Order: sequence, then structure tokens, then C-alpha cells
Amino acid sequence: MKTALIAKTLLATVLAAATVTLAQAQKKASAIVAHRGYWNCEAGGYARNSLAALESAQKAGFWGSEFDVNMTADSVLLVFHDAHINGKRIDQTPYAEFKDYRLENGEPIPTLDQYLEQAKKYPKTVLVFEMKWHSTDEIENRAIALSIEKLKAHKLFSPKRVIFISFSPNASRVLAQSAPGFTVQYLGSDRRPAQVAAELGMNGVDTWFKTMLDDATWYPEARKLGMSVNTWTVNNADQMETLFEMGVDQLTTDNPMEAREVLSKMGMREVVAGKKIKIKK
Ligand code: MG
Repeated sequence: MKTALIAKTLLATVLAAATVTLAQAQKKASAIVAHRGYWNCEAGGYARNSLAALESAQKAGFWGSEFDVNMTADSVLLVFHDAHINGKRIDQTPYAEFKDYRLENGEPIPTLDQYLEQAKKYPKTVLVFEMKWHSTDEIENRAIALSIEKLKAHKLFSPKRVIFISFSPNASRVLAQSAPGFTVQYLGSDRRPAQVAAELGMNGVDTWFKTMLDDATWYPEARKLGMSVNTWTVNNADQMETLFEMGVDQLTTDNPMEAREVLSKMGMREVVAGKKIKIKK
């Protein structure tokens, strides 16, 4: 009888501990952002910022898919990371000069219109829209106004569908003013990114993972300011684990499937496409 009682007590203790652990794990949740789409796989064509990479991120059900936007001299918005193509500065060169350029998978560089057409096919995937740094504030401001026009035309200008990120302080400020109610994250690797973001009128930070790992003192400050916290570009499983443990809202990575496995191994919940991120306090 006594043995049975001990066994019963032990079982109850184990169950209680498991319930607490499960409750803690449920409280901890992070979203994965595919950096330049889920390009690092066959379906993504191993081509960053391609339509195929966006589609494979959408199909995999990651919370968000990141992409970069640059504007040509004749006001065509392109989804492309670098400021130059074959030595020509994008914002000083007409689109015709880039028409024949091909990505690694043979796709032409997507225009923002083409990209948003693909985006519309999967309404749950959040677009993590990076406005790149342009030659002047004036060009940058036109690129932002035109981007918002395009998002509206494609019925995607909604805080549920898009968040904005930028390194450019000017673009950051203008985006925060132009998209009230949206998440607008500062991409800097400054020592105190939250403070800089707040000064620019933004409500989030998207910080280089090394800044996050080397100096987490600003992290509580970001939370105190009610900011969302994203981090880029985390491609190592151990570092992913540390940052998930820290409590980032979003983790941006070239290896989103690996990030999914890390979350699962940690017993944490993945905030998938269509689910709302609850900003941690
Ligand atoms: Mg980017």
C-alpha cells in the first residue's frame, strides 16, 4: 500500500512538473521570418528575393517572409538587395538596363508589382518589407510613397499583412509617419537600438544578432518602450536557441526550417503564418 502511495505521489509530482513546463513553453513563442524568402532550398531555387523563394516561404507556413526594395531612376520598384547591379546604381539607372538580368534560378528581378501578385496568393504570410537606403532622402521618400500606393492597389496595405523595416533613419522616420498602426522596426546594429528607434518614432527593433548576443542590456529597454523585437540574420542553431530563449518576437534567418526544428526541440511554440504575435512585456 505504502509503495502504491509513493508511486502515486511521484506520478502526481511528475505530472505537475510537466504541466508547469508545458505552461511555460506555451507562454514562450516566437515567429520565424524567412530572410529574402525561403530561398535556401530546391523549391526556392537557391535565389534570394525571387518569386520562387517567396512562394516556398508561403507554402512552408512561416510567419513572415522578408524582402528588399530598391527604386530605379524611372521609378520602378524592384525586389533586389544590393544598391548596384553590375556596377550601376539602381536609383540612378532606368529599369530597361536591368531587364535582362537574371537571378540564380533564371527569374528576372521581380518588380514590386509582380512580387505583390504572388504575395496575395497566400493571405496569411506577413510581408517583412525592407526599404533600402537610397541616394537621397528625396528619392527614398518617393520610393516609400510609391510602395504604399502599390500595397494599397494590391489591397495589402494592412498591419496584418505587412511590417516595415529599414536601416535608413530617414526611411524609418517617414515609414513610421506614413504607416500609422503598422509595425515599423529599426534595423540598426547601434549599441542602443531601441532608443534610436524611439527617437525615429518607430515601435520596433530588428537588430543584428551579434548586438543581441553581446549586449542584451538594451533589450529590457525595448520591452519597456513596448517595442517588438526582431533579430537578423541568425543561421546557427545554438545562436537561434539563445535568441529564442531571450524571447525575441521574430527571428530572421536564411535557414527557417532549421529554426523551426530548434523551436520544436526547445518545446517552444512557433507563431506560424496567420497567427498574431503577442508582444512580450
Ligand atoms: Mg533585407
